[in-house]
Amino acid sequence: MEHHMPEPQHTAPADPNAIDQRVFPPTARRGRECEQLKIGGIRATELTAKHGSPLYVVDEDAARTRAREIREALQTEALRIGTEATVYYAGKAFLCVEVARWMAEEGLAIDVASGGELAVALAAGVDPARIGFHGNNKSEAEIARAVRAGVGTIIIDSEIETQRIAHAAAAAGTTQRVRLRVNSGVHASTHDFLATSHEDQKFGQPLRDAPRLVRGILAHESLEFVGLHCHIGSQIFATDGFRESARRLLGTYRELAEITGADIPELNLGGGFGIAYTSAQAEEAPAIAEIARELADIVADGAREHGIAIPKLAFEPGRAVIGQAGVTLYTVGTTKTVQLAESDVAGDPADLGYSERLYVSVDGGMSDNARPALYGADYQVRIANRVSDAAPALVRVVGKHCESGDIVVQRDVIPGDVRPGDTLAVAATGAYCWSLSSNYNYMPRPPVVAVRGGTSRVIVRGQTEDDLLAQSVMVADAIENGDTNE
Ligand SMILES: *Cc1c(COP(=O)(O)O)cnc(C)c1O
Repeated sequence: MEHHMPEPQHTAPADPNAIDQRVFPPTARRGRECEQLKIGGIRATELTAKHGSPLYVVDEDAARTRAREIREALQTEALRIGTEATVYYAGKAFLCVEVARWMAEEGLAIDVASGGELAVALAAGVDPARIGFHGNNKSEAEIARAVRAGVGTIIIDSEIETQRIAHAAAAAGTTQRVRLRVNSGVHASTHDFLATSHEDQKFGQPLRDAPRLVRGILAHESLEFVGLHCHIGSQIFATDGFRESARRLLGTYRELAEITGADIPELNLGGGFGIAYTSAQAEEAPAIAEIARELADIVADGAREHGIAIPKLAFEPGRAVIGQAGVTLYTVGTTKTVQLAESDVAGDPADLGYSERLYVSVDGGMSDNARPALYGADYQVRIANRVSDAAPALVRVVGKHCESGDIVVQRDVIPGDVRPGDTLAVAATGAYCWSLSSNYNYMPRPPVVAVRGGTSRVIVRGQTEDDLLAQSVMVADAIENGDTNE
């Protein structure tokens, strides 16, 4: 089974100033009186004046609404087929105490994939019973901490972990609920790097090994096996990968039920629901209600086909919850025009027949958004501080790092008079941007501000140059000894 991400084909927007609300958050719009982009009722330039540039902005209402919509859609459809669903927010997409709190308030459980993410969820006051703990190499210390905290389920990724979790639970005098992560062999693949259910990869155990591994789990009184887990990939637009994967997993549920002596209570189908990063993708991205209906039918069909009871369901969306709530604001530093060779233009229809490309350099880059460099991802960009009726230009937004792959937006079309000092807004940066950020070239991580109803507040502090300098041992010692010239 193989899918392809809809090619990020571009068509020149009718109005290169227009804010496409299928890509930008719902509250993003141009103010009637000032023509500036506003998010959550605040002008982009007011946000950068107050909090600096670059700046991650999260529309709180958008994140909460989306979380609720996804949870309700999946739960409603689960009810329709006579079961129930738990929706976990995949924290790795973007986790901080505030976001964990939003998710818990909107009725989502939370998935974490490290001791650090677990600490954030616990600090947010998330009910430990509503936390799932993932990862292919959880340390003994991380497992012991999770077990002691009372984490709801731990997802076993290898036989070694079965032993570790069993020992930790026995030592804590508890029974730990566990799921087994399997590899269904289905890759609902989009981009090769994003797919996580090939056989030849690090996550999970081949499905055919499940019976043996479940026997191994049952051998420990300190473990309670609740079901299989499978995550087939990311940025998925169609449900046929889920169909095939669920069919295969449910196909083993009868055999597993014979081993455990009871119906297998749960099935976790992971996350991976895609979002629109560009207007072209917005044409193809299915509504969550549609996905939820198809997924429920898939499970009901699969259970019927294999003659088993419909298990309780669990899902783990990350990107679909938080991605489109985020916008990154940058300030333009320099621009330059390059001529595209005849062959470039002909060879790349996405370049829309433009004969030149305007490179627009901003004050961030791959340190605050690694996705273009990691996955060849693309984004939509708009000038945020003004509208312009200048002729549209084919632009590539690049960062300030020492890498030619330091690209923020591969290609888009915006007014050609974009110039130093302009504020640019890049849409749909809520997921996998802050969480994958780095300090490459000693760039401090920008803060994250939440906007809502005309107010903004910092929910993740930005780093300062001093924070970064303080990591160098020599400097730290010099400051400690007082022998600094400052
Ligand atoms: C990354 C991941 C998710 C979330 O994926 P999205 O594409 O953000 O929905 C869910 N479950 C597991 C196990 C993951 O690794």
